[in-house]
Amino acid sequence: MPRVHVMPDALASQVAAGEVVERPASVVKELVENSLDAGAKELRVESQRGGVALVKVSDDGCGMDREDAVLSLERHATSKLRDKEGLTTITTLGFRGEALPSIASVSRFRLTTCEHGAVAGTEIVVEGGRLRDVHEAGCPPGTTVEVRDLFYNLPARRKFLRSEATEAAHIDYQVRLHALSCPGTRVIYRKEGRVSFDVAATDDRRVRIGDLTGRQNLGKLREVPFLEHPGMAVSGYLLPPDEARKSRRGQYLFLNGRPVEDQVVWRALGEAHRGALVEGRHPGAWLWLEIDPLLVDVNVHPSKREVRFHRPAELRALILEAVEDTLRPERKGSSGLTGKAGSKALPVRSETSAGDGEKPSEAGVETRSRETGSQVSVIGSSGTGALLRDERSAPSEPQTWRAEVQEEFPPEEEETGAPSFRVVGILEDRYLLLEASDGLVLLEGEAARERILYENFLEGAKNGAMDSQGLLVPLLLELEPRDADVVSRNAENFRDSGMEVEPFGGVTIQLRSMPVLLKAADPRSLLLDLVDELVNSAEGRSGRVLAFEKFAGELARVGARGERCRVELAQSLLNELFACDQPYCTPGGRPTLIQLSSSELRRKFGK
Ligand code: ADP
Ligand code: MG
Repeated sequence: MPRVHVMPDALASQVAAGEVVERPASVVKELVENSLDAGAKELRVESQRGGVALVKVSDDGCGMDREDAVLSLERHATSKLRDKEGLTTITTLGFRGEALPSIASVSRFRLTTCEHGAVAGTEIVVEGGRLRDVHEAGCPPGTTVEVRDLFYNLPARRKFLRSEATEAAHIDYQVRLHALSCPGTRVIYRKEGRVSFDVAATDDRRVRIGDLTGRQNLGKLREVPFLEHPGMAVSGYLLPPDEARKSRRGQYLFLNGRPVEDQVVWRALGEAHRGALVEGRHPGAWLWLEIDPLLVDVNVHPSKREVRFHRPAELRALILEAVEDTLRPERKGSSGLTGKAGSKALPVRSETSAGDGEKPSEAGVETRSRETGSQVSVIGSSGTGALLRDERSAPSEPQTWRAEVQEEFPPEEEETGAPSFRVVGILEDRYLLLEASDGLVLLEGEAARERILYENFLEGAKNGAMDSQGLLVPLLLELEPRDADVVSRNAENFRDSGMEVEPFGGVTIQLRSMPVLLKAADPRSLLLDLVDELVNSAEGRSGRVLAFEKFAGELARVGARGERCRVELAQSLLNELFACDQPYCTPGGRPTLIQLSSSELRRKFGK
């Protein structure tokens, strides 16, 4: 059995480096955090070959004297934490005193630092954890750390690094992330010798967001106004739900200035968007949380990326309230989703693009339609009068673009908020094909109807005036006991949605009226389908009463089943859809519209 021994310091640092320094981007993170902790007002970050050849971070922060500089390279040397009590009230980004020695143990490392007002600075050279040189150096106030040849002495670690491009992308993300956290600091980032970005200091977070993520976002940002609950507060910005992405890459959370990731917050953010998001999408968000340091433990993750909140339920409530407040005015207002930015383009993301990076085109709709006027004949040929497709045309007809319509909708955006589309045709009775300002849009009839019904039910119930129509002959239905039970539990929900249902002895119920909105549906099958859905829902199984929103969602889904798209009704369907607050998805999160952008079409055709 080998004897237990204490590791030499250099080895201990290398082991610690395994946790702290995962990849070049972690070096960037640690150095940038140190600079920000030092009060930098100007921060320069440089990387070469994905950070493997060089990571260099310079700041104009407080700097260190010679003694501190040497000490900073000792393990567990920190100026930021003195005692156990301090650990519960940490306000700096660092506190473990591990980063510098860890980094220095796995690279060729040079630290140059000078305090403000000092005559001379200090330069320290370390190689693979071995102190090579300490000398006086002339340098501007502040600190510069150069890290070269990362993992040169740990070939196994180096092998695990990904391609330079991937590592560079991680660095890029890290620098942007930190730059977002400190708008008051100018940040200059050079990559492979060229300036990648240089963002000026500002006291406006919006400006920083715009500088880093594209100014086209600025007009779309919605402010989450400062909201305070005991011990915690939040503020920030959101992008509209229709710009939501498949990954969480567009979501940024800063806790007391520290970029972190947190499931409590992200879940609450998603919850607040209920019904407004296509499933699996995440809305762009920049949230700044201020939390009493006593209520949060930042010392639970090696790189402090995750934290632990002591009162997650309160945090969830705070985020929910703040985000719901932000979304609310829009829900009442006009179409909302088409945005205050005034873009007429359809802000739906295309199915096949990964959901990232595609900007809706700003092209003027009318001009474009006029430009493409000559192409119309390719699609249809019989002039504007022939609105109806031939009902008898063989279903197996190879040409599935069955409509012969070139009617253009009047530009109605001001009134309805709807982007203007030109109806191109109907596909399989299910899809409306539309020419948009940027490519082809497919609208799915059932999904659109579901959204329309849902919002109408909610609106009707809110005003206590759901239009309903008595049945000529009330319908008697004998149900299984379990089904009858669900109906009686939800009697109020039925009433609020314009369906009068009464017990009729035993397990028989009587349906006396139907909402006008559903007048086309067969009451019997609709009711039975609805009962099935209710029984199968979580609440149905648990014996609870459904919240009206949920009930209305089920009713809308059942009521929309079998919706057929018809060319002559296309316009009114579009108008109804775009009168909705959230036209782009069903309450359950299915998209109502998908878009194939012009560029995507060209790409698919190999152009
Ligand atoms: P931590 O940040 O956890 O304290 P580090 O190893 O990252 O540990 O840094 C050790 C110490 O070195 C810090 O506590 C700080 O006093 C000093 N230091 C590091 N970087 C800088 C810098 N850029 N400017 C001034 N002081 C620095
Ligand atoms: Mg640090």
